[in-house]
Amino acid sequence: MTQDLIILGAPGAGKGTLAVDLCPALGIKHISTGDLLREVIASGSPLGQEIDGYVKSGALVPDDLIGRMIKDTLAADACRQGILLDGFPRTIPQAELLEKILADLGRPISAVFYLSVELDRVIRRLVNRVSCQQCGRPYHLINLPPRQAGICDVCGGVLRQREDDKEETIRKRFATFLEKTQPLIDFYQNKNLLVEVQASDDPQVALNFVLKYLAR
Ligand SMILES: [Zn+2]
Repeated sequence: MTQDLIILGAPGAGKGTLAVDLCPALGIKHISTGDLLREVIASGSPLGQEIDGYVKSGALVPDDLIGRMIKDTLAADACRQGILLDGFPRTIPQAELLEKILADLGRPISAVFYLSVELDRVIRRLVNRVSCQQCGRPYHLINLPPRQAGICDVCGGVLRQREDDKEETIRKRFATFLEKTQPLIDFYQNKNLLVEVQASDDPQVALNFVLKYLAR
C-alpha cells in the first residue's frame, strides 16, 4: 500500500531527525521541497530552468511550478511506495493544489503528522548548537561538546553560534511558524488527517509513535 505522508513541525521540533528514521523504516522517500528545488534546478530540465529564473530574481516560485515538480517526482520509481513531504504545503492554496495532484494520481494523503513541541524545548535544543567557522563541523554544547571549549576538535577553528540559533531569533521563528501553520493544522484536522506527535528528547519515542499509528 502506498503511504503518502506530510510532516509539519516548528523549526527545532526534530522534523529532520524523524524523517531520516521514518522513511527507510517504511521504504518511502523523504521529499524536502528545499532539496527538491535545488535538485530540479541542478538537473537543467525545462522546469528546472523556469524555477531557476524565479529563484535568481529573488521571487517566490509560483505554486503551480512547485506542484509540477512534486507531480513529476511522485512518478519516480523511488516514490512508488510513498513519500514523506516536508516543507510543502505551507498555505491552504498549496494544500488544495497538493490534494488535487494526489487525487489525479489516485494517491490520497494517508496522514499528516504534526510534530508539536514546546518553545522551551526548542530553545534548549537550538541555543546550544555551535559549529566550526572554518570546517563547518557541528557541535552541541550539552550532547556533543568539543574537547576544548570554543575550539573545533578537528581543525582548531573557532566555534560560533548561528544567527538563526540565538534565543531571540528562535522565539520569533517559532511564533511565525505557529501563526502561519495554524490554518493548515485546522485544514487537515477537518479532513481527519492530522495526527499530533509530541516531540521528545528521545527521537525513538516519536518514531515509535508514528510507526504504531501507521500499523494500526
Ligand atoms: Zn573545524
